[in-house]
Amino acid sequence: MKYKRILLKLSGEALMGDNSYGIDPQRLDQYAQEIKRAHDLGIEIAIVIGGGNIFRGVQAEKVGIDRVQGDYMGMLATVINAMALQSALEKNNMYTRLMSGFKIESVCEPFIRRRAVRHLEKGRIVIFGAGIGNPYFTTDSTASLRAIEIEADVVLKGTRVDGVYTADPEKDPKATRYNTLSFQEAYEKNLNIMDMTAFTLCQENNLPIIVFDMNKTGNLEKLVKGEEVGTLITAKN
Ligand code: UDP
Repeated sequence: MKYKRILLKLSGEALMGDNSYGIDPQRLDQYAQEIKRAHDLGIEIAIVIGGGNIFRGVQAEKVGIDRVQGDYMGMLATVINAMALQSALEKNNMYTRLMSGFKIESVCEPFIRRRAVRHLEKGRIVIFGAGIGNPYFTTDSTASLRAIEIEADVVLKGTRVDGVYTADPEKDPKATRYNTLSFQEAYEKNLNIMDMTAFTLCQENNLPIIVFDMNKTGNLEKLVKGEEVGTLITAKN
């Protein structure tokens, strides 16, 4: 197996499926099955899930809620998604733990690095909810930070496109996909892979990122086996 321990980042929006809000149960189950296929290969899996399908901090100001309050609402949204994903994983016979960036004692345990690593070693899938636990951050930054902390081999950013393109493939039909990129190239070309905080954390800690299509059956399994799927971003090309 190419990777032993992975951090999978899923956006909240991906959970909507074809809806415009909330959680699509079919999509959720599909993701759980994809994760199971990788887990059955003996891979240790940690997951960070976003909250954009429910609430984003930047929306708050539009409705008269201040930014910090809005960010906490966004973090709570990620916990809702994390709980839904946890249930879907358990329904598919996986053992899981949900760890939160701030205390929500009745629902999950707080993030404690050593404990997270122990869960992974025992074969449990660990979901990190509530982001880092601080406003003004994103779940992409959470993914980078937690991946570094638990010494994951790679951050796998599951999206609905099959990699990083020269331009937005949904808008520009001439856009072409990169197989590999260096952090430097991605930065110079202003390619929007993750927000700057998240991206810089990966670059400074030499943690590779793979952007791939999570909606395509078998992709996650192929990736952990080392097959070329999506776009790999590393220190050197
Ligand atoms: N958020 C935050 N701190 C964190 C992680 C998330 O304040 O460490 C808030 C922020 O308001 C963000 C929202 O939670 O907009 C939902 O997360 P995100 O937008 O990253 O979700 P995604 O786009 O991946 O669905």
